[in-house]
Amino acid sequence: IVTSKVVTIGEIVVEIMAVHPGDGFREPIELIGPFPSGAPAIFIDQLARQGHPCAMVSCVGDDDFGWLNIERLRKDGVDVSAIRVHEDAVTGSAFVRYRESGDRDFVFNIRHSANGHIGLTPEARAVIAAAGHLHVMGSSLSSPAIIEAVLFALDEIKGRGGTVSFDPNIRKEMLGFPEMRAALDLVLAGTDLFLPSGDELLLFADAPDEAAALAQLLGRGLKAIVLKHGSAGARYVSADEDISAPGFRVTEVDPTGAGDCFGATFVAGWLAGRDPAEALLRANAAGALAVTKKGPMEGVSSTDQLDDFIASAEPVA
Ligand code: ATP
Ligand code: MG
Repeated sequence: IVTSKVVTIGEIVVEIMAVHPGDGFREPIELIGPFPSGAPAIFIDQLARQGHPCAMVSCVGDDDFGWLNIERLRKDGVDVSAIRVHEDAVTGSAFVRYRESGDRDFVFNIRHSANGHIGLTPEARAVIAAAGHLHVMGSSLSSPAIIEAVLFALDEIKGRGGTVSFDPNIRKEMLGFPEMRAALDLVLAGTDLFLPSGDELLLFADAPDEAAALAQLLGRGLKAIVLKHGSAGARYVSADEDISAPGFRVTEVDPTGAGDCFGATFVAGWLAGRDPAEALLRANAAGALAVTKKGPMEGVSSTDQLDDFIASAEPVA
């Protein structure tokens, strides 16, 4: 099957952001939002915009924040049948303020929101049973129930001859939780396509440098690794290919969501059997477009939008 249905499992949140950079939230400030968000939600929305069949397993509250997300995902073509609407939990949220340095300062409500009720419902089992590919967002492996659901889906889908892509999307600090570390390693062992940020690669290999880490991971059975290098673009490495592609020059308005849009666009190309160089070019274009819009999911792009952007933009060497 060339274009098999993709499933992802993880958090849905609204993002509410400070209009102006500053130190934090210890005084009343101007805010803008809610925006639909959550790394796996952004990923799956961008995949749907590529025309690829896909579904998300998640949980929101029966509130406006939840319906904002469900309606957006549904409109963009995501199968939302396994997004549970919890009767008395509240949809997750992330308040974000940019500091003058460009760093981000978050107040998260995820673990104790409706996301804490994500699990293997009958609807989740049904979309997993219909999927040929699983995308894992490492940062979503934050509860035992999500870890259980992801590992169940991984075994089911791999057992049917399906494939797995994995974006760790983590910071070193998160690896202090032993359960998450163990789960990340189990996911990596089942991964076909690995999509780390450049600086995450060494967290997953016992190697002194990038070249040794790439060789070690490919030797363990990964089919391909795509390294994301922010505005500098990305690099694709497999047993017989090593392709670097520069990023596109754009004005960065909001960097959140770039990695997710990049990943979804690359996965869509990979599953459709596109040439890796072309998939990389399109993924770079999607990542670049993502940073030009305020709001994490507002920068998603359709295949037509990517075609237009690529035709008019100049890649930066
Ligand atoms: P995040 O997890 O914060 O969304 P990431 O670390 O997973 O990001 P990045 O490398 O920051 O991923 O971005 C992913 C891709 O998006 C890059 O490989 C590049 O193609 C594109 N991109 C990101 N930032 C820019 C930028 N400022 N200008 C052009 N392209 C960008
Ligand atoms: Mg990322």
